Amino acid sequence: MPIEHVVARAVTKPWGVADPRPWTQPNCDGTAIGELWYERAGADRTPASLLLKLLFTSQPLSIQVHPDDAFARSIGLSNGKTEAWYVVEATADAKVALGLRRPFSPSQLRQSIEDSSIAGLVVWHPVAAGDVILVPGGTIHAIGAGLVIAEIQQRSDRTYRLFDYGRQRDLHIDCAVAAAKTGVAEYKVRSTRLSQQRTLLVANPHFVLERLDLPPDTCWHLDAARETWLLALSGTATVRSCEIAAGGAIFATFDQIDFHVGDAPLTCLVAYVGEVARKLLHPLARSHADGASSGRDLTPAATAPAAPQCHETWPRRNKR
Ligand SMILES: [Zn+2]
Repeated sequence: MPIEHVVARAVTKPWGVADPRPWTQPNCDGTAIGELWYERAGADRTPASLLLKLLFTSQPLSIQVHPDDAFARSIGLSNGKTEAWYVVEATADAKVALGLRRPFSPSQLRQSIEDSSIAGLVVWHPVAAGDVILVPGGTIHAIGAGLVIAEIQQRSDRTYRLFDYGRQRDLHIDCAVAAAKTGVAEYKVRSTRLSQQRTLLVANPHFVLERLDLPPDTCWHLDAARETWLLALSGTATVRSCEIAAGGAIFATFDQIDFHVGDAPLTCLVAYVGEVARKLLHPLARSHADGASSGRDLTPAATAPAAPQCHETWPRRNKR
């Protein structure tokens, strides 16, 4: 199965940003973009089991919870939603919330949602670029303003809101109380250096997330035998004659990816299913990678930010 450049779909959110460049282009009508969903191109593509997103926040997101696998299955869903965040950019006062200050009974949790006191009961943590946070299904959480976050998650659309800062969107009190684990949550994941190039950020039964830091003008072979997502954060890479830059992503499965790093260092995230791959990456002689790149072509879909459509009307990014 060939590797694919993926389609990046911008999703409007009330807490998003007007100008998410360089990650993607602004909406022509100036509406705020909160999420960029990376999806397999083409309507006939089977949805992947993981969902990769970029989030852009100018206001806090709702305080929310997702089901874990056990709760999801108890209500007839195939899986829950555990997610992990990699902080790409953060303002000096940026923060995220994970878990509650103390254990709550279900009735106490219900009461705190109904009287909005839940907003003062979640535990906020300052975050900086490079931080990694794991959010197991069932963990009450929120993301503050001033952040760009790369998120990898089990594919699920179940989000139960507990508090929404007066934004008039629905709360999901019954489901939130049933799905939430109302205790203190573990915060931050300790990264593990696997090699000079590989840093293991998260490994759990649902996905593995790694960061790759590769020197300029080098060639590499990436083993994508399993469902694998690659998201460029900085630098460029040429993959089978197509170039990806910051915000560009590829998807591959049952495949091998040979690629060439451009004239700046490449930092990218790689997410895949299964256990931590022992041989995910190895260097190639340049002639090998260049030869491979002239073989099969990628779908020439937009992975690097699309050409601007409406320069003149773009609003400036809100100061966060
Ligand atoms: Zn969430």
